Amino acid sequence: MSEDLDILVLGAGPNGLTCGAYLARAGARVAVLERNVESGGGLTTQELSGFALNSHAIYMLLAELMPPYHDLDLRSYGVSFVRPEAQAAFLFGSESMVLYSDPERSAASVAALSPGDASVFRELYEDFRRASDEMIIPATYFPPVEPLDQIELLAEAGDVGRWLNELAEMTPREVIHGYGFSDERVEAALVYLASMFGLDPDGGGMGFLMPVYVYRLMQSALVAGGSHQMASGLRRALEASGGRVITAAEVREVVLDGGRVRGVRLDDASVLSAQTVVSTLNPEQNFLQLVEPDALPASLVEAARAWEWDEASLFVANWGVVGDPPRYEGRSSEVDKALNVVMGVESVEDVIAHFEAARSGEMPDGSVGHMSCPSLFDPLAAARHLPQYGNCEVLRFECLAPYEADWAQSKRELAEKAFEAWRRHAPNLAKANVRVSLPWSPKDIEDHLPSMRRGAIKHGAYTSIQMGYNRPSSDCSSYRTPLEGFYVAGASTHPGGMVLLGAGYNAAHAIAEDLGLPIWWGVPEMVRTAVEKGYLPDTMP
Ligand SMILES: Cc1cc2nc3c(=O)[nH]c(=O)nc-3n(C[C@H](O)[C@H](O)[C@H](O)COP(=O)(O)OP(=O)(O)OC[C@H]3O[C@@H](n4cnc5c(N)ncnc54)[C@H](O)[C@@H]3O)c2cc1C
Repeated sequence: MSEDLDILVLGAGPNGLTCGAYLARAGARVAVLERNVESGGGLTTQELSGFALNSHAIYMLLAELMPPYHDLDLRSYGVSFVRPEAQAAFLFGSESMVLYSDPERSAASVAALSPGDASVFRELYEDFRRASDEMIIPATYFPPVEPLDQIELLAEAGDVGRWLNELAEMTPREVIHGYGFSDERVEAALVYLASMFGLDPDGGGMGFLMPVYVYRLMQSALVAGGSHQMASGLRRALEASGGRVITAAEVREVVLDGGRVRGVRLDDASVLSAQTVVSTLNPEQNFLQLVEPDALPASLVEAARAWEWDEASLFVANWGVVGDPPRYEGRSSEVDKALNVVMGVESVEDVIAHFEAARSGEMPDGSVGHMSCPSLFDPLAAARHLPQYGNCEVLRFECLAPYEADWAQSKRELAEKAFEAWRRHAPNLAKANVRVSLPWSPKDIEDHLPSMRRGAIKHGAYTSIQMGYNRPSSDCSSYRTPLEGFYVAGASTHPGGMVLLGAGYNAAHAIAEDLGLPIWWGVPEMVRTAVEKGYLPDTMP
């Protein structure tokens, strides 16, 4: 196989498709190579007997705030978001609390649980919103800044900057605890939100991520029609500019000649030639498997060998059921309307115990986790058009889980236990109503997406030495690697995992600059403002 291509992007997940779409529109001849038969990576929606089930990413934290949404005109390619007003409900004994996208409604719910904590909640929300909107979200769409320079900029950028520097010395749990909520359940709810994607509540130096996780999990959205719609939209944007996705193309090797990239070799031994290769795979794949370590500086090989995987993965179960959506017994109808309903958490210690159990390899029992009925907000998810179902819904349970376990044996058992635990809160759900069920374990995640080794949904742990400028190594913090023509752009680079599209976006900028391609997209307004306020440098690193 020989193709006249300029750029090969490895991996058609959210970052690979984003990077490819920007570069194709800049005029490069781009092919995105994907080992699976369908593009999407973490943006997977599996259709089972008419039910659209999201086995990977579902909650879009930044949604319309992501610059690629506008630059690539994803709306015109069928990508739209649904944002439920009630975002997260917490079941505490016989009481509950609901957090809404409207902070005043959230404060009222906090007040109903613990009157003295409403004003504390308002203060926290405003701090988190401001830090996220002014600095953390803009920095997502800007290359990482060298740590000492970033600290210096923040120190001089006023109160928010100085506060962010303080958070960078704290654990997520300490950040919430510092607000002094009088009712520990409120604190537990906020720590749960921060840790539900595997962030260690006691992770040293990870406190700076708290504002964005907590604030955006009160503003999260679903992709209408299922998460894969976003992958389809990105792919259409890529193809509209002449780029292509080649599926069932597993990349085995980056072909080098004279110390520079010449293309890639696929699983079937065929070679695709291009002078630029951009990988969205993980550091082990990039620097220990695809490229001969001899071709790389020892420091980079060492960083890949020392790479730490996420300590906790996720277990997800989806069901297609006939009948009504869950009705939570003895609770306000507001709980029924929430996007996520969290069960099994009464204290911060419960959240820590859930995380620790996953970290230490203990199998969850299904009693702690969050439950969702996506079809309440996105009717396209359920198979209501099929006459055999009529009234039907999609249900989804998610919890932290260990990678090491006999998942082939235990994933169905865990799904059943979780369904039973859910039924204890919502007795209108009945096992007899289940028409399809899709338990999805950390091992399934890895088998489907080898980039997520050990079920690492962010391609690697968030620790202070694996974030920002050091993600995956200071040798390639600008998305350029020491190997001429080889770039990195996946979740193991800044800003990290989740469907933010930031890594693909930032890498496209670096590559366009190096190849002399037109940078046809403008600097996002929020980034311009962050630069003006001094949070970010006025020249790209
Ligand atoms: C269960 C689960 C739930 C999640 N929930 C959320 C959520 O609610 N919200 C959120 O924002 N994020 C969520 N995430 C995280 C999010 O999906 C990822 O962080 C994101 O997909 C990373 O994007 P990426 O493009 O960097 O990598 P990936 O999505 O991993 O894409 C990489 C692609 O490379 C392909 N590939 C791997 N090896 C090769 C090879 N050798 N050759 C060719 N192709 C290859 C893979 O098949 C894959 O398609 C979740 C993830 C999981 C697994």
